[in-house]
Amino acid sequence: MQTVSCFNCKRTEQDIPLLTMHFQGNVSHVCPQCLPALIHKPQTVAANLPGLRASGVDEPEG
Ligand SMILES: [Zn+2]
Repeated sequence: MQTVSCFNCKRTEQDIPLLTMHFQGNVSHVCPQCLPALIHKPQTVAANLPGLRASGVDEPEG
């Protein structure tokens, strides 16, 4: 059996419930703790999700 892990914190489905997400033809998994970051601060997790544009978020600095 394949063990999947959160794309951001790398915790596995053995440690925490994981959600499946589809992005650019790929399937990744995210845990509930990292999901808010993906929604509200994608630039903080973009490094762990290839293809996600950190600069694509229209959010004022400061
Ligand atoms: Zn996570």
